Amino acid sequence: VTIFNNVEHLPPDALFDIKKRLSQDTRPVKVDLGIGAYRDNSGKPWVLPSVRSAESQLQKDPNFNHEYLPIAGLPSFTTGAAKTIFGDDYDSTRVISVQSISGTGALHIAAKFIEKILPGRIVYLSNPTWPNHKAIFEGQRLTTAQYPYWNASTKSLQLDGFLDTVKTAPEGSIFVLHACAHNPTGLDPSKDQWAQILDKMVEKNHIVLFDSAYQGFATGDLDRDAYAVRLGLTKLQKVAPVFVCQSFAKNVGMYGERVGCFHLVIPDQSVEINASVKASLSSQLAKIVRSEVSNPPAYGAKIVSTILNTPELNKQWHADMVTMSSRINSMRHQLRDHLVELGTPGNWDHIVGQCGMFSFTALTPEMVQRLEQNHAVYMVSSGRASIAGLNEGNVLYVAKAIDEVVR
Ligand code: PMP
Repeated sequence: VTIFNNVEHLPPDALFDIKKRLSQDTRPVKVDLGIGAYRDNSGKPWVLPSVRSAESQLQKDPNFNHEYLPIAGLPSFTTGAAKTIFGDDYDSTRVISVQSISGTGALHIAAKFIEKILPGRIVYLSNPTWPNHKAIFEGQRLTTAQYPYWNASTKSLQLDGFLDTVKTAPEGSIFVLHACAHNPTGLDPSKDQWAQILDKMVEKNHIVLFDSAYQGFATGDLDRDAYAVRLGLTKLQKVAPVFVCQSFAKNVGMYGERVGCFHLVIPDQSVEINASVKASLSSQLAKIVRSEVSNPPAYGAKIVSTILNTPELNKQWHADMVTMSSRINSMRHQLRDHLVELGTPGNWDHIVGQCGMFSFTALTPEMVQRLEQNHAVYMVSSGRASIAGLNEGNVLYVAKAIDEVVR
């Protein structure tokens, strides 16, 4: 027997396998509600107008080059990224920001940092959550656990169970919270619920890790979508560090360019202690990045930095966010309205109540399978539909397909 003959063959990634099946499907009408990537009204990927302008600006720049970035990334990008999530007046003396390979890479840096500096702490993930969360943290040999989040019978937040877990978790545990537009449920806590959740975190000295992959997709407004992160910072600042894993994949449409940032906010002490803690932790993060990617990719970061730091492009970007989020919202309403008109059994109001890229439709795995087999409508078996895959041309078709599989 040679060395690799007994290596286990793992199942394909569920989400990327959908894409593969879809591309092999020869039926004339197909609908992709799988991966969370924005599509325009003709079902095509959309390069944001702000990105097009930034690219042409970069191309004209006589100083443009392909040199290595610093280990911690492009400073104008990481500072702009911090302002985007924390607000213009954030306290930079307590925030360390390092560029990352999109949101996944930021989570990976967080996991490596926790493994090294905070070993033995349990990482709590929402039930359900983005499946890669578990893979990323367990990949660094960290122990994960779940906190209740989605109540399937009421299609709402399981707040009591959530708070209970926050209370019973060992002091100083790590809680991964979706900053907004929760994936896969599309359900976010209300402002009042956020306050209750974060107050409990403070009581137990827990460390909150905000995963911010959809800022701007919940409401169309970047500042409103940063509500939970900013509230978390004010509540937790004297007590515990706060981590933020930020992705520009969705809100700048930079999916494949891998533009992200990891922010570590240190607890507020005296000016001298803050400065010395910040310097030590920066050196630790630099070492992690150096050994993993040496230095982060430059092109996408330059585009995003140009957008963040050029007032007219920044304004255009805000408008682009509104274009995307309002098209998605209009598709939510059209889908719900068609289902109501068709008399499809059940209540479909949750589709319009949810926010962000996804709807947790409450379709069963069997129904999802029939959607694919009978109608070439593809979505994840959990019943999560990427609403961005709907458009004026296919929304009625999808409603009729759902109607058929539900009956
Ligand atoms: N967190 C969540 C909750 C996500 O849904 C995603 C994207 N699917 C990410 C992080 C990271 O994505 P990326 O690495 O493409 O930025």
